[in-house]
Amino acid sequence: MAAACELCAVAGGEVIFRNARLRIVLVDDANYPGFCRVIWNAHVREMTDLAIPERSALMQMVCQVEAAQREVLQPEKINLACLGNMVPHLHWHLIPRFADDAHFPHPIWASPVRQTAEDVLAHRRALLPALRAALLRHASCTA
Ligand SMILES: [Zn+2]
Repeated sequence: MAAACELCAVAGGEVIFRNARLRIVLVDDANYPGFCRVIWNAHVREMTDLAIPERSALMQMVCQVEAAQREVLQPEKINLACLGNMVPHLHWHLIPRFADDAHFPHPIWASPVRQTAEDVLAHRRALLPALRAALLRHASCTA
């Protein structure tokens, strides 16, 4: 555990699934319902700090989350990002993207280019219970 590491201190979102190695969290982002992170539990900096079977387990779980997001949300695209510049504790962002989202076609960390209609966002938020169930089902396949 590194001093003052946010992802060692807190879950990093609503924990949907957790095993000995990693956890899946749902991120509370008003513009991006269904945004998930897969976070390695131990304080590890880079993918190459993991043994090959661990890398494989992590990427398999990333793919399971992506599958659940596609199934429930049917996005235009899923963005996968492993940045860690701010929090150098290994985690993958999985962001369902839609042509009408606030930043499309740019990364969500760019400047917004529009505001998504509130009813559209409400419709996507209404899918979150189904997404939670799908995430659990998919995570159990690989865990
Ligand atoms: Zn950490």
